[in-house]
Amino acid sequence: MTQAFSEIVRPTAQIEAAGYVLEEATPEETLRWAFDEFQERVTIATGFGAEGVALIDMAVRINPNPDIFFLDTSFLFPETYELRRRLEDRYGIRIRAFQSEVTPEQQELKFGPKLWSTDPDLCCRLRKLEPLKDALRGKDAWVTAIRRDQTIERSSARVVEWDCQWQLTKINPFVRWSKQQVWEYIARNNVPYNPLHDRNYPSIGCTHCTQPVQLGEPDRAGRWQGREKHECGLHAPTQPLTFLLQKETLTSNDAA
Ligand code: SF4
Repeated sequence: MTQAFSEIVRPTAQIEAAGYVLEEATPEETLRWAFDEFQERVTIATGFGAEGVALIDMAVRINPNPDIFFLDTSFLFPETYELRRRLEDRYGIRIRAFQSEVTPEQQELKFGPKLWSTDPDLCCRLRKLEPLKDALRGKDAWVTAIRRDQTIERSSARVVEWDCQWQLTKINPFVRWSKQQVWEYIARNNVPYNPLHDRNYPSIGCTHCTQPVQLGEPDRAGRWQGREKHECGLHAPTQPLTFLLQKETLTSNDAA
């Protein structure tokens, strides 16, 4: 077994075990475990969607001063920036912003106008994935607000899992929740939310890539409309430990 592989498997096996134990846990129980286990080495990602604001409310009830960040692409809706301010005021917290080193003007100079139309994957990489690396630097775990039924890519997400893409533990307290449970939580706790949700924007990202949806359309139908793209690339599908072990077996056999 190579050194690199053992370094991957050791944390992965521990995380697999935690994921097994916490699979039936409530989101509050999962968050409490995350804060106990990782303390200041865990950070919370929010995109200010319905799940994201519920996550902030829940986290602050357990830990009054959690580390929270968002990815400021420079292309968010004014309503989203205003929501950040409302949440900071309401909970007395600071939500850290991480931005691309490339300004929108530099992006246009280098790659031409409307990169979100000509190459949205590259645009997401510059404005979301690269800043996410900065946000996760020095952390051992991150908490996200994804739910399994949002996209096919998220359907295999577990409550606690090893994030192969970013090489740290990923905690998804809401994976088993439905959209209805999220909105019941928001209503019950009077959580501030983006007013665009009331104007047929169930899923909200950048202004250039988000449209309102028609009645009966899936929630994410307004994201990257007319394209195959469903995700910005932050949430790669889970690779379970069994996959890594199979990969190692194949590698060992190849070497033999
Ligand atoms: S969602 Fe659109 S505008 Fe935002 S980073 Fe991705 S491609 Fe660019």
